[in-house]
Amino acid sequence: MTDILSDQEMVRYCRQILLPSCDIEGQERLKQAKVLVIGLGGLGCAAAQYLGAAGAGHLTLVDFDQVELSNLQRQVLHTSANIGDNKAVSAKQTIAAINPEISIVAIEHKLGDAELQRMINSHDVVVDCCDNLVTRISLNQWCFTFKTPLVSGAAIRMEGMVSCFDYSENTPCYQCFSQLFGEQQLSCMEAGVLSPAVGIIGSIEAAEAIKLITGIGKPLVGRVLLADISTMSFREMKLNKSAKCPICG
Ligand SMILES: [Zn+2]
Repeated sequence: MTDILSDQEMVRYCRQILLPSCDIEGQERLKQAKVLVIGLGGLGCAAAQYLGAAGAGHLTLVDFDQVELSNLQRQVLHTSANIGDNKAVSAKQTIAAINPEISIVAIEHKLGDAELQRMINSHDVVVDCCDNLVTRISLNQWCFTFKTPLVSGAAIRMEGMVSCFDYSENTPCYQCFSQLFGEQQLSCMEAGVLSPAVGIIGSIEAAEAIKLITGIGKPLVGRVLLADISTMSFREMKLNKSAKCPICG
């Protein structure tokens, strides 16, 4: 695969290339990009679907979980026929059908520390679509080490948040953010989640990843977007670097 767009790709992505801030150059940058998506649940299905359709050239999808009936309400890359299949494999099949021009790797096992580090070091952006704090903390740690930008999103009930960390000087990291919220850990299994809530947050994560790759616009670095789907209100919170942060302080 060359970095230059084929005639087919020029047509496929023409609505995006029409954007002056993207243009052919932005689309080619997207084609060259290696994006690591951690988790192919509700957030990951939305984020990976848009990234794949938009032309992110190399997607690595990581999930060791299997598709269950109770996932299908919101994990829209998996179908009823995929119940029992690995989520990364199922997501890969659907995205490949949407866009056969890109390369997609599905990783079906839990990444060990060494493998996770190697992955983060060899990708251009990490999109955190996981459902637990331990993984988020570990992604942040290695993204900080290798200076790989991280897009982080979370959704539960009818609420969600998104932020980006590019680890440039004087910008906060995920740990700075999580310190503000303590150890609160709720899962969708316990608290429930409205189907489109994960779609909205996952789509925002895809937009932020595309912006970080192409240089379009202004990503959510040093800012947290908080979404309340019940009132459909969006708030922004400024996020400062914590001097006491064990990772970046
Ligand atoms: Zn920090």
